Amino acid sequence: MPNTHNPDVLIIGAGLAGLSAANDLQQAGHSVLVVDKGRGLGGRLAGRRIGEATFDHGAQFMTARETRFKAAVASWITAGVAAEWYSSYPGQPNGHPRYRGVPTMTAIAKHLAIGLEILRGIRVDNISQQGSEWLANLDNGETVIAKKLLITSPVPQTLDLLNEGNIQIPDDKQARLDRIDYESCIAVMAVLDGPTAIAAPGAMALDDGPIAWISDNLQKGVSAIPAVTIHGSGVFSAQHLDDDRMEIGQQLIDAAKPYLGDAKVTEFQVHGWRYSKPTVVDDAACMLLSESTDLPPLALAGDAFAGPRFEGAVQSGWAAAKALISAT
Ligand SMILES: Cc1cc2nc3c(=O)[nH]c(=O)nc-3n(C[C@H](O)[C@H](O)[C@H](O)COP(=O)(O)OP(=O)(O)OC[C@H]3O[C@@H](n4cnc5c(N)ncnc54)[C@H](O)[C@@H]3O)c2cc1C
Repeated sequence: MPNTHNPDVLIIGAGLAGLSAANDLQQAGHSVLVVDKGRGLGGRLAGRRIGEATFDHGAQFMTARETRFKAAVASWITAGVAAEWYSSYPGQPNGHPRYRGVPTMTAIAKHLAIGLEILRGIRVDNISQQGSEWLANLDNGETVIAKKLLITSPVPQTLDLLNEGNIQIPDDKQARLDRIDYESCIAVMAVLDGPTAIAAPGAMALDDGPIAWISDNLQKGVSAIPAVTIHGSGVFSAQHLDDDRMEIGQQLIDAAKPYLGDAKVTEFQVHGWRYSKPTVVDDAACMLLSESTDLPPLALAGDAFAGPRFEGAVQSGWAAAKALISAT
């Protein structure tokens, strides 16, 4: 007999929004189940190993502007899972310190996951309304029946789930969701046979050409051996997302030559992020989709709501938790 889970709240996604919401909901006395199709935690805070090399290949750093988020960053530093990386890089002085995960960005997600019930490597195949509750079918054959639902996947994927479940979206909210847009990013993880020519602190954002960002994971303290992460620009990545990944990766490596010095690439892998960073976000910090409807409580959160980055995703999760706590 397949297992049925009965949490108060089902959260789809163990990225920053989902994990941040889960903590607040649990703190408020709700039982919470988080389900993520990825094997790792953190969603777009992704890391990968190739032999002795380690890479941050999703989000590279975070900035902190808002009071509660600044306090959260301070608590992660105290817990040893975050540290200041730098406050400016050559040619681009900037007043906002950049913080990184220690040893990698995913360490922050692992920290946020402590004490939460999370099913990993399991996809929510579909969701539907069952009277006053939500029913979710998981791809391992199990089901979840929950009083409240929070979805944190990138909005186009969320819309697919809602449409397949015949969940009616009010017209004004549908229009807001349709406006949200993302850029793609092709990420190359390349192992090197020697140090790069990238100056301290080991990262550069580029304005022109196919590369948007290049980061030296050895200098950053992420990798034990020389290893670079190269992010294609939004334009380049959109043009080539469906092309042969290794050919596109090689093009980005060729374009990165000036930053690699004498180092040669010994091995590389490529990851394509279809929904990398939002380019058009909604003004609200989250969306309570069930508001003024007959639906059981249902909220949407993620970086498409409170701002297109790490901090925005966390704040969106907090906002969604607050909305769901008071929703009946
Ligand atoms: C290449 C790249 C570089 C970036 N660089 C930076 C940076 O330097 N600084 C910065 O602040 N931000 C950066 N960002 C953005 C930052 O990573 C995101 O804003 C943030 O991580 C988004 O978190 P989230 O929780 O909203 O979404 P996600 O992290 O995408 O979490 C959503 C989760 O939902 C899961 N999911 C989706 N559908 C299902 C389903 N049906 N069933 C189960 N699980 C499902 C996914 O597996 C995923 O784990 C970058 C992003 C990328 C991709």
